[in-house]
Amino acid sequence: MKDSIWLQDMTWEEVKQILDESLKTIILPFGSTEQHGPHLPVGTDTMVAMTLAEDAAQKANVPVVPPLWFGWSPHHMVLPGTITIRPEILAEIAFDIISSLYHHGFEKFILINGHRIVNITWMQIACERAKRELGIKTVIFDPAYMSKTITKSLGWGQVGHAEEIETSHMMYRYPDRVKIDRAIDNPHPENKLYSVDPSFEGDTLCYVPSSPKEMKDLTRTSGGTTGEPSKATLKGGKQYHDHLVSRLLEVIQDLQVDR
Ligand SMILES: [Zn+2]
Repeated sequence: MKDSIWLQDMTWEEVKQILDESLKTIILPFGSTEQHGPHLPVGTDTMVAMTLAEDAAQKANVPVVPPLWFGWSPHHMVLPGTITIRPEILAEIAFDIISSLYHHGFEKFILINGHRIVNITWMQIACERAKRELGIKTVIFDPAYMSKTITKSLGWGQVGHAEEIETSHMMYRYPDRVKIDRAIDNPHPENKLYSVDPSFEGDTLCYVPSSPKEMKDLTRTSGGTTGEPSKATLKGGKQYHDHLVSRLLEVIQDLQVDR
């Protein structure tokens, strides 16, 4: 592998060499640019996808595509810095990225989702189309699902937004980007019908869009956070990160098995 596992750092000759020598597997980090409370940068979702991709890719000797810094974020437009792209456009972009790489010889694609349940919708559409039209292997790696067995043991609550999970991960991998003294806790309101946390029994894997009023209330009470960033720890962030990197390595290995 070259000095960098990022595709954008390689020459075409180096990409060709990787295609000749490696697993024909490639990782695509997808995130968002959206408000993450007063204490985390708007690029948080993309940054967490990038760091997982980078660490696993180095160990497995596979390249990583330049990240897509944009996701579907209409619900966070109440605060500045958020950029939202329509999901149908995102599905098309993802498909075009995959089909370009397939054209050059890549055969197995891992899409890392840094933007929780909201990105899954269009990523599934792109993956299904790529499988059907190109006959390739595609999988989605979702950190919330892939970490559901450990989050409770780390003392964390439900998946929210800019909560202790994302804050811990950022504290571990991007400590200079976390303004923990600005964080405001906003414990989850009880919702008996819908939960988007796979480690909770009530998980519905169902995205229920928030109303403008709900989002305005969120900005007033917590500056955009749902959850309890005060529970975040660097140690927990490391355990969470290491767990996800090892699961990602499992996924890379599993993709090499012919079925
Ligand atoms: Zn996030």
